[in-house]
Order: sequence, then structure tokens, then C-alpha cells
Amino acid sequence: MSAMRLAKLLENAPLEGHTTFGVQQRARYLIEVNDLHELYEAVEFARDNHLELLVLGGGSNVLFVRDFPGLIVIIKLVGIVREGANKLWVAAGENWHDLVEWTLANHLYGLENLALIPGTVGAAPIQNIGAYGVEVEQFVTRVRAFDTHLAEAVDFERSDCDFAYRDSLFKRAPRGRYIVLEVEFELSAVDSPVLTYAPLAERFAADGAVTAEKVFDAVCEIRRSKLPDPKLIGNAGSFFKNPVVSAGKLDQIRAQNFDVPAFPIDEGDFYKLSAAWLLDAAGWKGKTRGVAGVYENHALVLVNLGGATGEDLFLLAQEMSSSILQRFGLALQPEVLIV
Ligand SMILES: Cc1cc2nc3c(=O)[nH]c(=O)nc-3n(C[C@H](O)[C@H](O)[C@H](O)COP(=O)(O)OP(=O)(O)OC[C@H]3O[C@@H](n4cnc5c(N)ncnc54)[C@H](O)[C@@H]3O)c2cc1C
Repeated sequence: MSAMRLAKLLENAPLEGHTTFGVQQRARYLIEVNDLHELYEAVEFARDNHLELLVLGGGSNVLFVRDFPGLIVIIKLVGIVREGANKLWVAAGENWHDLVEWTLANHLYGLENLALIPGTVGAAPIQNIGAYGVEVEQFVTRVRAFDTHLAEAVDFERSDCDFAYRDSLFKRAPRGRYIVLEVEFELSAVDSPVLTYAPLAERFAADGAVTAEKVFDAVCEIRRSKLPDPKLIGNAGSFFKNPVVSAGKLDQIRAQNFDVPAFPIDEGDFYKLSAAWLLDAAGWKGKTRGVAGVYENHALVLVNLGGATGEDLFLLAQEMSSSILQRFGLALQPEVLIV
């Protein structure tokens, strides 16, 4: 085992500070990489020593239920390069919210509805991050990733990424196959805010001069009032995805007197339901199981109230999804990566 080759390699490393849930699991090996050379050495080290590889950015969408027996690579690659009027290549380790601020300061528009989503640029295409009526796939034109099977960097056009609701080719691929290096964005030079999300539309109904900057401020304000700050309370945002059901299934649920809000997709053949509404209706808001709990203002957010293990949170999540299965006949899928 050539562990001594990698100067920054940590053994039996605590993961507490590397995920926003703050659970106290450990990784057999962990390394932070600041450039491509370090990254390739780390990949080689994992390959030579038959170690499972897991890439992390900010750790804001992952729950470790056990110690990780392989190598965790934390991506710290930075840099923003502007190409022409409105294209950007952004390195995977850049902070997402800082990028959103940077684009507005540079009169490039489109990302403002995605303000304050924790994590890194490299993770944004993995689950096609979305919020307030916008998904990142609308602005991603290319993803450059290192394919650990082919041992080479590959460019994926937007259409190759197979983006879907909180999903992409990268999320479905075997863990550790693709390491996002850079993302290319095409933004707009025209300030034309998207107000399709009802609370934003209501807020700006009487404002004839709404700007991207005002939407950015509103999104930050709403998010701060609704979601717990991971620096203060361990969490990973929405734990489950919103379920998508057929029109027939929706009728069945409504026939049982459940007035669940539903948003039509695919011309009304399918509907997206609010997982938060379902969990709230099942009484989950504010419930606790020891030091694992559900946030008091949002039934979709699991919280570490102090010292919860990954297993405590996982068991709570299982109890929540069983209760939704029993009550509504719906199987909730986790949005968070469970390791
Ligand atoms: C308070 C809070 C609010 C949130 N709100 C939202 C929201 O509104 N919308 C939303 O979509 N998400 C939201 N999230 C989830 C999370 O912020 C996003 O999924 C974010 O993109 C994760 O970034 P990260 O760098 O922390 O990724 P990590 O948690 O480190 O990793 C997430 C996944 O991406 C993979 N990954 C990370 N970096 C790379 C890379 N360079 N190459 C390959 N794979 C990589 C990991 O292996 C893992 O599978 C929220 C989370 C929190 C804590």
C-alpha cells in the first residue's frame, strides 16, 4: 500500500466537519485535492489499492450511516473563466452561492432563484439542483468530468447529461465513476426574472420593476426563514424527493379526502406531489426520535439535534417513509445520498 505517496492523505479521518449533517462517522482514507495532479494521484491510489472512491464537495447532500471503508476525495478545484459575453467555465470546487453572487455582480442573469443552495458547483449537475421554479440544467451547456473507468477527461453536452428532476446521468452512474472537474454555463445578459413559483409571483405582483437582484434577495430571505442553517443545526435540506404519480393515483388519494397539492407534468398525465405536505399531514413536523428530529418549520428536513448518528437519522427517515406508504400508498425516495 503506497499511502506515503500522497502527502495530504488522512487515515481513519473524521467526517463530522465534511458533511452538513455533522454525523460522527469516519473514512478509512480522506484527501482534499486542490489541482488536477493531486486528483489523478488520488484516483490512482484508490485504483492501486482496490479502494471504493467517493467524491464530496460541501457534503450538504449526503448521510453517512456507517464508516466509509474506501477513499473520500474532497474537490477543492477553483477558478472561473468567462468566455465571450455570457459563457462561463467554473471549476467544481467553487462555492455555489458565491458563484450566484459573482454572476449578478458581473451582470449575468439566470441563477438568482438558486441562491443560497449550499455546496459546490461540481455537485450542482449531479442532482440537477433546483429551487423556486428553476433547475440548473437550464444553464448548464457542458460538464467536464474525469471518467475513472476510462481514465480520461470527457466532455458531456447538456443532452448527454440526461438531466431529470433531482437526477442526472452522473447520479445514476456507479459511485465514483465520474468526477466533475468543471461546468460550463450559458447565462443571460438580459435581466428577466423568473417568477413562476407562486410565493415569488405574489411577492412581486405589485412591483413593476422587479430585477434579478430583488429576486436573489427575496429567495435568500425566504430560505433563511424556512430552512435551518447547517452551521447551527445539522441537516441536508430536503431529505426526500417530491413523488411523481399518475393521474389515476392522484384521484385515488383525493378520493380518501386528502386534499394534497399536485402540480401537473407531462401534459397532465403525471403529477408532482409535495412530499413536505404529505409528511406534514402525517404529523411529522417537529417530531423527534432522541437526538434525530424533523425540523419544526419544515417536515421534509431531518435535523441532527446534537450527537445523532447516521443510523439514528436513517431510522427516522425509514419510519417517516413507512408512514407515508401506509397512509397514502406512496413510496418516498431519498434525495440525499445515503452511504
Ligand atoms: C439547508 C439546505 C438546503 C438545500 N436546498 C436545496 C435546494 O433548494 N435545491 C437542491 O437541489 N438542493 C438543495 N440542497 C442539497 C444540496 O445543497 C445540493 O444537492 C448541493 O448541490 C450539494 O452540493 P455539495 O457540494 O455539498 O455536494 P455533496 O453533498 O458533497 O455531494 C452530493 C453528491 O454529489 C456528488 N459529488 C459532489 N461533488 C462532485 C464532483 N465534483 N464530481 C462528482 N460527484 C460529485 C457526491 O458524490 C454526492 O453523490 C440543500 C441542502 C441544505 C443543507
